[in-house]
Amino acid sequence: MRNSACVVCGKGLKPSFEDSMDDESPPGAATVFTSRGNFGSTMWDPSPSSDDYLQVTICDKCLSQAAATGRVLLCQPQHVVTSVVYSVWSGPREFD
Ligand SMILES: [Zn+2]
Repeated sequence: MRNSACVVCGKGLKPSFEDSMDDESPPGAATVFTSRGNFGSTMWDPSPSSDDYLQVTICDKCLSQAAATGRVLLCQPQHVVTSVVYSVWSGPREFD
């Protein structure tokens, strides 16, 4: 993975697969984060139609320290179950 250094402390990170020196190997002992922008940011808020994104890597030590001080959110999207309303169908109708 290119530019594989922790964005917080600057520590260089080795690839997860020691024998792989290609750019596709994710960094070991770290997590990769991406952002497609944030409305309100004065630095990164591209057009919604843009495919561009930023990517940063944070080493496990820095992420752990941030979590210990409550600066990392775990997001767990909840799937809402909608109810179904049943009624008797009145048969085919003509459409314009
Ligand atoms: Zn770090």
